Amino acid sequence: MSVFCHPDFDQHELVAFKEDEASGLRAIVAVHSSRLGPATGGCRMFAYADEHAALADVLRLSRGMTYKSAMAGIPLGGGKAVIIGDPAQHKSRDLLLAMGDFVQGLNGAYVTAEDSGTGVSDMAVIAERTRHVSGVVKGESGGGDPSPTTAYGVYQGIRAAVRFRFNSDLKGVRVALQGVGNVGYHLAKFLVDEGADVLVADINTRNIDRAVSDLGVTPVALSDILSADVDVLAPCALGGAISEASVDDIKATIVAGAANNQLDTAEMDAALMSRGILYAPDYVINAGGIIDVYYQTQGQRDQEMLREHVDHIGNCLTEIFERSAKTGQATGAIADAMAEEIFKGPGGAQRAA
Ligand code: NAD
Repeated sequence: MSVFCHPDFDQHELVAFKEDEASGLRAIVAVHSSRLGPATGGCRMFAYADEHAALADVLRLSRGMTYKSAMAGIPLGGGKAVIIGDPAQHKSRDLLLAMGDFVQGLNGAYVTAEDSGTGVSDMAVIAERTRHVSGVVKGESGGGDPSPTTAYGVYQGIRAAVRFRFNSDLKGVRVALQGVGNVGYHLAKFLVDEGADVLVADINTRNIDRAVSDLGVTPVALSDILSADVDVLAPCALGGAISEASVDDIKATIVAGAANNQLDTAEMDAALMSRGILYAPDYVINAGGIIDVYYQTQGQRDQEMLREHVDHIGNCLTEIFERSAKTGQATGAIADAMAEEIFKGPGGAQRAA
């Protein structure tokens, strides 16, 4: 299939493909928009079924990054990279170096960072070949894993949603977390510390055990987490949790979590609203990571400034909820319109900065 006719192609500025036979690297970089600044987003490594699935993912994720950075008020554009392969089997130093060469060859049009399947140590290897990388090991650049900041932003977003819906704090509020990996674990800790009652499910039993023993959360079966009888459902695993198949079973009245592309289809935005469920648009609530990455690229180590910026996620969501209540439009559509006004509108770059 040609890139131009791909259903997820949205006037992307650049789509670049790289194959390096020696290391086995097969990767795609997509730049959706650089209107607000250098296109920045994580490098995902995943065992895609085929290159079409990888292309769909990188087109969709890079577009999401444009919306995310615009709403987060940072002067970055939207980009993403995918490496085709199972990180457990195919990741090697040579492959990462070849990825670094690929990124360097784009001359700064795309700035990479860690994502699902890649970590801080991988970014350090990529950084041997390119300076267009963020999220490298702490100490070398003042950077590191942005997951705790993402979790902090999601926590602030959940607080804002609970305040909006129940006019309360998190004490005694029941939250179901799907996925307790890097972000989910830190999120669970913030929630437990504030007195929330947290249920968790994960396909990785080690991650469950860690959360249960460190934080005292309650494990539930994988098949029960989306339909758990809770106040808040927080999807923190992979995308597509809210789908035709799951939406009718959701008992939570708030959906607010870290996962990218939580809505399996665009129709789920209105479907949640029509069921009286308040949805915190994913790219708004999970922007803590890209905000952290932005501060890293600026060499900015002031943690207080970073926190203050991430705290704004709560205010931004409250504004979206209020506009939705006033207009009857679903929250995802409201967020899209707000983001487009920023990155497409006149003077967008100045507003993001
Ligand atoms: P991660 O890989 O560390 O954690 C994901 C967890 O979900 C893992 O423990 C995994 O075992 C579990 N999981 C996978 N499929 C599952 C399923 N079907 N049911 C239950 N659990 C399942 O990833 P992460 O960094 O914590 O990111 C989580 C989500 O948040 C992803 O969608 C990611 O794109 C998004 N996100 C992450 C960041 C960040 O800073 N890491 C920033 C923005 C968005």
